[in-house]
Amino acid sequence: MDRCSACGGTPFYTRRYSGQALCASCFDDSIVEKTRKTISKYSMIGPHERVAIAVSGGKDSLSLLKVLVGLYAPRGNSIVAVSVDEGVAGYRDEALSHARSLAGELGVEHLVVSYKEMFGFSLDEALDWEEEREASSCSFCGVFRRRAIDEAAQRAGASVVATAHNLDDFVQTFMMNLMHGDVARLGWLDPSHTDRSFPLRRVKPFMELYEEEVALYAHQAGVPLQSVSCPYMHEGLRSEVRDYLNMMEANHPGFKNVLLHSSLDVISHYADNSEKHSAPCTQCGRTSSSGLCNVCRMRAAVEEHVKSRAKPSAFGGG
Ligand SMILES: [Zn+2]
Ligand SMILES: [Zn+2]
Repeated sequence: MDRCSACGGTPFYTRRYSGQALCASCFDDSIVEKTRKTISKYSMIGPHERVAIAVSGGKDSLSLLKVLVGLYAPRGNSIVAVSVDEGVAGYRDEALSHARSLAGELGVEHLVVSYKEMFGFSLDEALDWEEEREASSCSFCGVFRRRAIDEAAQRAGASVVATAHNLDDFVQTFMMNLMHGDVARLGWLDPSHTDRSFPLRRVKPFMELYEEEVALYAHQAGVPLQSVSCPYMHEGLRSEVRDYLNMMEANHPGFKNVLLHSSLDVISHYADNSEKHSAPCTQCGRTSSSGLCNVCRMRAAVEEHVKSRAKPSAFGGG
């Protein structure tokens, strides 16, 4: 029987793509070490920089919080966990309480912002709109969530915000950009990309870790799992891409790793180009690929909808 390749202990996990067997404790160490290397390779976090960590309360983001606090609190970086309450009744509370309790346990500040407070409507209110819900609730919500995370991180005084996107998320997004014909936007995925018009850097310290390994780390670390999934979950194309990548990885161990490196190579050729395709949004001033940014465009549509729905009751009251 194989032994742990690092310490000779009882193996717990074998990396199929490298053949490396690891015991539970060396596996955990390898996750932390890989994260540290990714951060250093792309200069994601500077010395003494204030770091915001986006914590949805799912297992990936709770793991990220744990790993980054372990790596950066001893170095004197101040850390703040930021969460977004989208306003989905019966779904978000559990995740937020997981985020709150882990942040408390680790002694980290925790800032929660809500769609309602930031945009004027909750996701429940915005998606009370059948066509929109059917079409693309996840991409719709994603646009607002990214903005809310940015705002929260800036309010918290951070200069960098880390999200828990892993290798699987990264290559899925890359492939989806290709499939949507969004080649010009590929540069935005560049891990070293800095947006000169926007003071906050977005980094993905888990981008070189397989989703499966993050899940295993989370399980080992005793990170709680969410028991309910989002009622608006509708990933469409993304879940097909995920299934395809998992099938390829099962048949060809290391496939996703190779794809990550090819993606990064392609992306690097578009990194400068993406700047030429962005201009400030005419309404909010944030980076946009055309006139109005996605947030302002979708926000106007939701406000229109909420207003039109409110009318009958306004007239029906008297
Ligand atoms: Zn070991
Ligand atoms: Zn805008």
